[in-house]
Amino acid sequence: MRAFITGGAGFIGSHLADALIARGDSVTVLDNMSTGSTKNIAHLQGKIQVHEGDIRDKALIEKLVEQSDIVFHMAAALGVKNIMEHTLESIDRNFNGSEIVLHAATEYNKRLIIASTSEIYGKNPNQPLNEESDRVVGAPQKIRWTYADAKALEEAVAHTLHKTHGLKVTTVRFFNTVGPRQTGQYGMVVPRFIQSALKNQDITIYDDGSQSRVFCHVEDAVKAVLTLSETDSTIGDYFNVGGVGEITIKELAAKVIERTKSASAIKFVPYSDAYPAGFEDMQRRVPDISKIKRFIGWQPRHSLDSIIDSVATNLKG
Ligand code: UDP
Repeated sequence: MRAFITGGAGFIGSHLADALIARGDSVTVLDNMSTGSTKNIAHLQGKIQVHEGDIRDKALIEKLVEQSDIVFHMAAALGVKNIMEHTLESIDRNFNGSEIVLHAATEYNKRLIIASTSEIYGKNPNQPLNEESDRVVGAPQKIRWTYADAKALEEAVAHTLHKTHGLKVTTVRFFNTVGPRQTGQYGMVVPRFIQSALKNQDITIYDDGSQSRVFCHVEDAVKAVLTLSETDSTIGDYFNVGGVGEITIKELAAKVIERTKSASAIKFVPYSDAYPAGFEDMQRRVPDISKIKRFIGWQPRHSLDSIIDSVATNLKG
């Protein structure tokens, strides 16, 4: 099968490229190398075709979509810190860029998987979050939510194109995916904590650390994406992909220190010191993964300990 991955040099995209190559596909990657990196796919040199470019380049997208059998749309501007610091560019890429990919897949009648996010549920306090949970976001001036808004609109366009034009799309909502190759540069907590722990530097918890998340190893997430893409009953549908085991950020910091045998101290800083104005956090984010289990029998295999160990090994290397 000829697979085309937008964002294929990114964190999830590059792991997906590995899995597709292992499956025997021919793989084409498009990446603008903003949050992605040639380092993530260096080991695939000679095995994949790489285009450095932007998903807003309509002519290029149309050509690459036409030449493929299946499209994995993983490209996005992401990371809370990144979105808040580059708001306009992020909205443009995430919404306008995605629209181009969606329309090209419709026009050429290609199977499409789109990467969405748990962020779309916003700060809905009713946990766990299932696929029909409401979106609860703050005022438009709370610019953190622009990422959720752009992604939600992308999902809505995909859903509508499926209904009106038969677009063969499956939507995947990733919840706090972590693993090797993820960088802490754009705000993600796990690589940030592990990076600090490995250097015995202070681990910085925002607010009081009572906020909680559930982390999912990227290998598990990629397995979910592949199986969803191989299962026709998932066409036109949308799925949470997340881990199990809710943990507070304070507990996460302690666990990272313990597993990396670090001498780091924990430092608490207010959100106002960590993020620009327009930030608000959600207290909990817990996925309900019963729908994907029902459709394809998927469940995550990696524990949080194994996630931390694999990220630490990667960062040391
Ligand atoms: N966080 C933290 N210290 C950091 C980075 C993040 O305490 O160095 C907190 C952040 O405020 C949030 C949680 O960890 O409550 C998860 O943040 P991340 O950006 O990884 O993901 P998201 O907020 O999208 O779940």
